[in-house]
Amino acid sequence: MRPSFSCCLVNDTFGDPGLYVDIAWARRALLFDLGQNFSLGPTRLLRAQDIFISHTHMDHFIGFDQVLRVALGRGKTLRLYGPPGLSANVDGKLRGYTWNLVDGYPLTIEVREFDKGRMQVTTFHAAEAFTMRRAHAQPTTTAADDGAFPVLEDPMFTVKAVALNHRIPSFAYALEEQFHVNILRERLHAAGLPVGSWLKDVKQYLWQGKPDEFRFTATLYFEHRREEREFVLGEVRERFVQITRGQKIAYVVDARYDEENEAKIVALVRGADLFYCEAPYLDADADKARDRYHLTARQAGLMARKAQVLKLVVFHFSPRYTGQGGLIEREAMDAFAG
Ligand SMILES: [Zn+2]
Ligand SMILES: [Zn+2]
Repeated sequence: MRPSFSCCLVNDTFGDPGLYVDIAWARRALLFDLGQNFSLGPTRLLRAQDIFISHTHMDHFIGFDQVLRVALGRGKTLRLYGPPGLSANVDGKLRGYTWNLVDGYPLTIEVREFDKGRMQVTTFHAAEAFTMRRAHAQPTTTAADDGAFPVLEDPMFTVKAVALNHRIPSFAYALEEQFHVNILRERLHAAGLPVGSWLKDVKQYLWQGKPDEFRFTATLYFEHRREEREFVLGEVRERFVQITRGQKIAYVVDARYDEENEAKIVALVRGADLFYCEAPYLDADADKARDRYHLTARQAGLMARKAQVLKLVVFHFSPRYTGQGGLIEREAMDAFAG
């Protein structure tokens, strides 16, 4: 089984935080946070059309310029999701440059900020020199008891956020695949059917919840010919598809360790396959971590254990521990293992 999401940290554990999630087959990626991101290169940056911001401290937002630079002049819409104030920060970034020669540029930046059950959408069009345009705020799906609410609902997956206390709101995110669609290649082969992009459509129909009796025409490419053939979704599902549990990835940065934050984090990341959690401090410096509204490695490990995640990855280490990254990792993994 090939997983749908493949994840990598944008930088090493001492570098600016950020998580890049590539979606298999979709030529699409999700990016969590915009710290320094030269390492991704233009192709991967361009693929990330949905970008989730925890908060706009410099180490989480300085990479906006790099994304803007590679996206400028492309016909695309860049969507940013994040806490209140995000559109003002984007506007501030955009006002830092001169835009007199971009009239023909098709780029649109759309900012979605979430506050108290409402979503405010703000757009900036290159063709209008990125003048800020605010739409009316809309109510979002009500937050669950644990404070989490969906910020992006795609047929294939949902991204939920929860606002943590970092003396300002810092959003933690969880990405959940609705379910995983495995194509049984041997069975296709036995039935004399080729693989190809028609299977991508099958996956989409299943995620969209199309009924079993749904009929569709697929273009099949055999070695020396192509053929249009009609299928019934239910039959394809029964013969060539196996549905399994979807992947869950969680991303938590910049938050203080207190009862409320812990409860929100544990609820959000529960059962994740992969939990990316900040661990800037060793527990010996827990008082410093608390003063600066950050977690320690031990706290990250304890929460990962409570949330029963499969794998914990710690990152966003403070430069004070340069050369001691192994110590931070060990402390987190010891607490995780219990
Ligand atoms: Zn911060
Ligand atoms: Zn930070």
